[in-house]
Amino acid sequence: MNSYITAHINHAAFQHNLALIKQKVGDAKILAIIKSNGYGHGLLRAAASLQQADAFGVARIDEAAELRAAGITHPITVFSSFANKNELQDLSRLNLDTVIFNFKQLELFCTQPLENPLTIWLKIDTGMHRLGFPPEEIGRAYQALHNCKNLREPIRFLTQLACADEPTDAHNQQQIQCFNKFINWNGARSIANSAALFAFPETHMEWVRPGISLYGISPFAEKTGSDLGLRPVMTLQTKLIGINKISKGESIGYGASWTCPEDMLIGVAAIGYGDGYPRNARDGTPILVGDKICPLVGRVSMNLVMIDLGNNPNAQLGDPVILWGEKLPVEIIAKWSDTISYELLCRVSPRMEFVES
Ligand SMILES: *Cc1c(COP(=O)(O)O)cnc(C)c1O
Repeated sequence: MNSYITAHINHAAFQHNLALIKQKVGDAKILAIIKSNGYGHGLLRAAASLQQADAFGVARIDEAAELRAAGITHPITVFSSFANKNELQDLSRLNLDTVIFNFKQLELFCTQPLENPLTIWLKIDTGMHRLGFPPEEIGRAYQALHNCKNLREPIRFLTQLACADEPTDAHNQQQIQCFNKFINWNGARSIANSAALFAFPETHMEWVRPGISLYGISPFAEKTGSDLGLRPVMTLQTKLIGINKISKGESIGYGASWTCPEDMLIGVAAIGYGDGYPRNARDGTPILVGDKICPLVGRVSMNLVMIDLGNNPNAQLGDPVILWGEKLPVEIIAKWSDTISYELLCRVSPRMEFVES
């Protein structure tokens, strides 16, 4: 256990975000996405906080198995589906819902004897070209699936938008129109991830699939969660473990990549890329020392970062250092590190101490 770093998980923020999304989507059901260890927040922690969701979504069968082992009885959809008999048997035994996106899976599904029938989402590739049946093949897939004794009716339909985080991109309307050709088919439909949920109310349909927004984070590059009325669930915090006076002209850290333009007070905080803080965070990335924003300087090490304490000359050893959270949006840190907040959250090491309130 890392004794310096804590990830604070605020359950009230989780509940606030879920309530806000519920209010936005009206009658649509909520399939809360908690893959990748609940976007780094902890799979079971997220599930415990989001019990008011109608269902959970994960990427892999082992994640769903962990939820079942913890006594979670909600419907759970496994989005990466199955590739062989054993995985299909596991899905059935654990009473999981899943996705079918090719004819090989369809054939396996229709020929295996299974303990329990399964609810199936047929995935339609409306233009993202990752997984899914092309629209012209969906009729054949639907008929084949319809005749399977392992199916728990009705069949559901799902697609994923490629550019929902950029609402003005023309792909969005093309994909939505393509999906709407199936609007008269009998069965629940789902398009919306967080971005579509906020940007395109017409995508709410029967089921929405929010992920990042449940954690209080904006799916849009130009907005933070609070701009959308969300509250960040995680605050990542460590301590100041060094304060050094460094002279003008001296360089700091690995590669001597940063040089002091004047005599400076440099703080050292106990977190680095080995703990999930991004190594490519640039000089100037904001860090909260006490209640003052101070810039990162020099390269991020495995378990340490250096900070220019010019804005907080009275900082003391042991002072709290916040990397992101309620007072410092992770969306901003993502920009400074040339990535997206999703990746920063998923990378948070599960080894650190999680404190829940
Ligand atoms: C991860 C995922 C989501 C959630 O996306 P967010 O952008 O985090 O809201 C929705 N649907 C599917 C199929 C996913 O894999």
